Amino acid sequence: MRITADRTRCEGHGMCEALAPNLFRVGDDGIVEPSTADSDESNHDLLRLAVDSCPVEALRLT
Ligand code: SF4
Repeated sequence: MRITADRTRCEGHGMCEALAPNLFRVGDDGIVEPSTADSDESNHDLLRLAVDSCPVEALRLT
């Protein structure tokens, strides 16, 4: 499963980082930087929760 972040949509709310700090990081510029492009199966539920929690729908799983 691959995480993509649309950095043009991200507003730095930090929900993703709060839910999954090992997978997302909000950088010094206030925009999300996924810390890994691919995720193993054990993280999928957490990833879906983080993606669904983004208020501006900047995250996608493919
Ligand atoms: S929750 Fe959405 S808007 Fe907030 S930092 Fe993560 S990607 Fe950006």
